[in-house]
Amino acid sequence: MAVVYSHAAIVVGSGAAGLNAALRLYDYGVKDVAIVTDGFLNGTSRNAGSDKQTYYKLSLQGGRADSVESMAETLFSGGCTDGDNALAEAAGSVQCFFRLVEAGVPFPYNRYGEFPGYKTDHDPRTRATSVGPLTSKQMAEALGNLVIEKGIKVYDGWSVADLICRDGECHGITAVNKEGGFAAFSAGNTVMATGAPAGMYARSVYPESQNGATGAMIRAGVEMQNLAEWQYGLASTKFRWNLSGTYQQCLPRYVSTRNGVTREFLRDSLSDEKIIEYTFLKGYQWPFDSAKVNGSSLIDVLVHRECEAGGQVALDFTHNPSGLDEAFGILTDEARNYIKNSGGLIFDSPFARLIAMNPKAIELYRSHGIDIANELLDIAVCAQHNNGGAAVDVFWKSVNTENLYIVGEAAGTHGLRRPGGSALNSGQVGSMRAARNIAAKQCFASDEAFCLFSAAEAERKYGVMIQKNGENYAEIDADEARSMSNDASQLRETEKMEELCRKLDGEFKTWFEKVRAERSTLSAAVTAYNMCACRAAYCHAMLNSAKICGSRGGAVCMQNGKETPEITEMRTRIQTLRYDGAEFVTVSRPVRPMPEADGWFERVWAAYSAGECDQ
Ligand SMILES: Cc1cc2nc3c(=O)[nH]c(=O)nc-3n(C[C@H](O)[C@H](O)[C@H](O)COP(=O)(O)OP(=O)(O)OC[C@H]3O[C@@H](n4cnc5c(N)ncnc54)[C@H](O)[C@@H]3O)c2cc1C
Repeated sequence: MAVVYSHAAIVVGSGAAGLNAALRLYDYGVKDVAIVTDGFLNGTSRNAGSDKQTYYKLSLQGGRADSVESMAETLFSGGCTDGDNALAEAAGSVQCFFRLVEAGVPFPYNRYGEFPGYKTDHDPRTRATSVGPLTSKQMAEALGNLVIEKGIKVYDGWSVADLICRDGECHGITAVNKEGGFAAFSAGNTVMATGAPAGMYARSVYPESQNGATGAMIRAGVEMQNLAEWQYGLASTKFRWNLSGTYQQCLPRYVSTRNGVTREFLRDSLSDEKIIEYTFLKGYQWPFDSAKVNGSSLIDVLVHRECEAGGQVALDFTHNPSGLDEAFGILTDEARNYIKNSGGLIFDSPFARLIAMNPKAIELYRSHGIDIANELLDIAVCAQHNNGGAAVDVFWKSVNTENLYIVGEAAGTHGLRRPGGSALNSGQVGSMRAARNIAAKQCFASDEAFCLFSAAEAERKYGVMIQKNGENYAEIDADEARSMSNDASQLRETEKMEELCRKLDGEFKTWFEKVRAERSTLSAAVTAYNMCACRAAYCHAMLNSAKICGSRGGAVCMQNGKETPEITEMRTRIQTLRYDGAEFVTVSRPVRPMPEADGWFERVWAAYSAGECDQ
């Protein structure tokens, strides 16, 4: 029997963004707030990291001039980004950063209390900071401790089934637990902080525990934007980890094994000189970039093609790449100087150089049972970040659904290119602004009877899958994920995507006729259904983008075997997608320009005092 739980506000998801949303709501006076999550310790924030995981904020050190306007301009200039979100992310960055510092996240400061920064990708200043490889994990832990301390209610182990929407308003969600039981979480305001639809791809550096609920939002008709914009890059697959920084700068050998034969496959397409140059560059040009396919990103293309051809691609740290000589004469001056200054100009092997340059990088794999001193490290080009997501206004409220807010990676506030670290900043600022907007209005529980009815409906609808005949949901899900990685990731061929769209549309429409699950796997089957909807929507968005925008950002698009050039005018427009109950409808709109905000103190003070600045 389905049940209903009612709150003034619910936050769905317990990553860095969701935890902050719940804490802020509580602090701003919405005490009747609860978190609903498929696993309190699941998700990207808690379970992913990188070499030096970055947090992007306004510069806070010495004489390095910076301003809100300048940071907003950086965020805006990536293309396909709304100016009001960029300005809000810049303006809120200091407040959110210091909240984390106060919560105990150990961002380093000097003897005088200045927080030094470094440059990250697409960053003209030195705005980036880090607490090490697990910045987002430490953020989530610190915020999670505060949630527990404040006694905020957490419903753990519930996966989103549907959003409860009626007449353009959200009333909460229905969800299913591990035993196959259904409940409605009825709320006056719903904050979706469910992260990226990471499960969409088979080749992924997201943690396996991260699914996302974007599919449920899409099915409910919530407007999406920039869905085609993703970040992909080289990562190890047995233990999911980005292979950036010193993993590349130590110059490992790229090999592929097919039919028991292991060889340096990059040599089929590149000279030894270029292989070594591009490998080094991959250290700080990590994400696949369509503008660099004739440079370092060619490595990603060749790795992808080799995987497609059935090769098991790996990094070999035990042998030097062919062409490397004892004098390191083949290296560019930049690479030789860098490696020399880092103490790594050692000819023995990439492993010897890595020990000298970054011993912790070796330890990390050892702690996950992988000894790169003796074994090959399996790799692939993996999905790492979704720049797109739900379309939100300047308070991270859905642009077409009342009482619904989307924060963190589930929101689509990043455009084509974002500075490294801005995802974590955006998650904190967006969740704070959503909480302010909710707290500024009267916040009541929602229509409980309607929500209970919705939960009973969900139980009936999804219960149909518990049948003897039909295809196993897990097999369909795995097959779709492989297809997405092959045909709808960093290399997108129009003809293959058209075929994939047809296949996914068909599976989405006939899901309940043909899919089988057990009561004990119903929760996973519901997630797979939402993932199917999600893949179909994303595939349509990518196909449309390939046709009207061409190759750009993290994707190279091809038609009839030829690369399609970028249509640069489209950088000032944003592609949106809405499901109308039958079709995925994509259109494009101009970006919202950077607002000319009023900075006159007396006027702002009056507006603020009248409560006008939070709504
Ligand atoms: C390898 C890697 C390295 C990265 N490095 C950086 C970096 O250096 N700088 C940076 O800014 N960003 C980085 N990112 C991105 C950043 O980590 C994420 O964007 C951010 O952590 C997302 O936070 P979130 O709170 O939005 O979502 P998540 O942390 O993913 O949390 C989602 C929450 O929702 C829950 N949930 C998911 N699906 C469901 C469902 N169906 N039902 C119920 N609950 C659900 C999950 O359990 C989880 O609690 C990196 C990402 C990866 C994968």
